Amino acid sequence: MSQTWTPDSWRSKPIRQVPTYTDADKVKQVEETLSSYPPLVFAGEARRLKAELGQVAMGNGFLLQGGDCAESFEQFNPNNIRDTFRVLLQMAVVLTFGASCPIVKVGRMAGQFAKPRSSDMETQGDVTLPSYRGDAVNGIEFTEEARIPNPDRLIQMYNQSASTLNLIRALAQGGYANLNKVHKWNLSFVSGTPEGDRYKDLSQRISDALSFMDACGINGETTPSLRETEFYTSHEALLLNYEQAMTRVDSTRDAEEWYDTSAHMVWIGERTRLLDEAHIEYMRGIANPIGCKVGPTMTPDDLISLIDKVNPENEAGKLTLITRMGDGKIEEGLGPLLERVKAEGRHVVWACDPMHGNTVSAEGGYKTRHFDRILGEVKGFFAAHKAAGTHAGGVHFEMTGLDVTECVGGTYEVKEGDLGDRYHTQCDPRLNANQALEMSFLLSDALKA
Ligand code: PEP
Ligand code: MN
Repeated sequence: MSQTWTPDSWRSKPIRQVPTYTDADKVKQVEETLSSYPPLVFAGEARRLKAELGQVAMGNGFLLQGGDCAESFEQFNPNNIRDTFRVLLQMAVVLTFGASCPIVKVGRMAGQFAKPRSSDMETQGDVTLPSYRGDAVNGIEFTEEARIPNPDRLIQMYNQSASTLNLIRALAQGGYANLNKVHKWNLSFVSGTPEGDRYKDLSQRISDALSFMDACGINGETTPSLRETEFYTSHEALLLNYEQAMTRVDSTRDAEEWYDTSAHMVWIGERTRLLDEAHIEYMRGIANPIGCKVGPTMTPDDLISLIDKVNPENEAGKLTLITRMGDGKIEEGLGPLLERVKAEGRHVVWACDPMHGNTVSAEGGYKTRHFDRILGEVKGFFAAHKAAGTHAGGVHFEMTGLDVTECVGGTYEVKEGDLGDRYHTQCDPRLNANQALEMSFLLSDALKA
């Protein structure tokens, strides 16, 4: 590493998108408290995810990453966590069959509480207040009091992340993830869809494969890998004082390796990925697998400089580039980046975030995304990889297991006029359970093509 990295070396760099707290002593106290708390994940788990992503980078696997745009303190509820977890499993089964390769499952869960914002201030009518920056920072209500950043929220973020992760671990290992059960849920999605026939063929083939395996004595009772699953957590590493407090040395290794134990994987957002600034400085020193968002303004030269900085040793699985270009811009925007990274022999996972380049305002003021535009970007992503001869390595969705009406379209169609019915997101519009699952059926076709 060029200059010495320490868990707090980011503090001497310019930083953006972090709150201005009024009580510095209080912030320090909270940071000390968090530093004394147990890690949420273990270094060995983060290493295992990195190894699995290393396989994806080499073309042997596919990353499925998804969850809320922003988790919420108020909507914290075991059923919400279970339902999002379940839809991710359902999607993974469909994708496993479509891609005939391992699907690495990573939730935007158990830590996704801080949001970068395009504007520091928000105006409603003739009132202007500081923007909402996620429940880890301030309250979503449009009042002066709620919008004051409160460092105690970092403790609540930790506690809610711990409880969420505990439930996820139980669901993943305790029998809930049984493949036969997951497939049965998929059958009920298919039989209920207005266009079920389009998806019946694929689900019938999965049913046949499971029956065949069962006849051979391979089922959830006999085979642990059919009743348990690996599931990892991730969030945007935006609040670096929180991440620093969770950064610990791995005591099982001889060499000094630092892990951010707040999640298995953390990513840098589109607005904070500046080379000489704090977020890149923090991320370059941790041994976790990391992600970086890549928007339409990224140039091939800048991308190589970024890779040099965060993955100088060209470790496969270390870096996932999450592209978010927008439908219609992706093939042109992505092609040159793919060519250059390939030409330089850099090992990265390429994942597609088809959400953040496709946000529009609907009538009534709702922020929404169109199912067809989201699908369009995913298709463009596959086409760009095909043209460049690189591996389309994964997808990254904002989604929920709940039946919300935030994105429009899909076979169980949500119309613009429906948006007000169940628009519950804290920030950006998410695919609902049916839309997310349908996306995986459509993706499955693209993976086979
Ligand atoms: C997000 O993932 O919620 C986000 C803000 O993305 P981006 O940094 O790509 O805009
Ligand atoms: Mn978002």
